[in-house]
Amino acid sequence: MAEDMLTQALKQLKDHRIRVTPQRQIILTYLVTHHNHPSVETIYQALAAQLPNLSLATVYNTLKLFVDLGIVIELQNGDAGTHYDFFGRPHYHVVCENCGKITDVFEPDLRSVETKAAELSGYLVTGHNMEVYGLCPDCQKLLHVTETSDLRRLNLSHAES
Ligand code: ZN
Ligand code: MN
Repeated sequence: MAEDMLTQALKQLKDHRIRVTPQRQIILTYLVTHHNHPSVETIYQALAAQLPNLSLATVYNTLKLFVDLGIVIELQNGDAGTHYDFFGRPHYHVVCENCGKITDVFEPDLRSVETKAAELSGYLVTGHNMEVYGLCPDCQKLLHVTETSDLRRLNLSHAES
């Protein structure tokens, strides 16, 4: 499955007449096979040994190219950095407000958000981007939170007051 997605993404590059350099191919392969929503630094550190001439700027520019082509999306998790995600299969994200972890949620009905938005707004819809905020299971344990009402004392930025 990851292989099909890589083939498809490489085809997208070729369709846009973008040269598939070894660096681009290796960065794309990393993104297709990792679901850790990496930052530029994470990708750089993971691939530097494999690509001795790699620079942070190259990783950054390559990611920007993939984002412009719609192969990869950008995400924020509140840690001031940008995170990247190969977007071969539509999904949305739940972001932990304490540790910044970003978790994928594959929801087959996701398209209904777009249908509903089109219906209610009269827009012709091209896409959507959804993020849900909360406290991940690990942080719930760490902070001894068992119920939604316990979240109030934590002062999380998206918590309802
Ligand atoms: Zn967490
Ligand atoms: Mn994701």
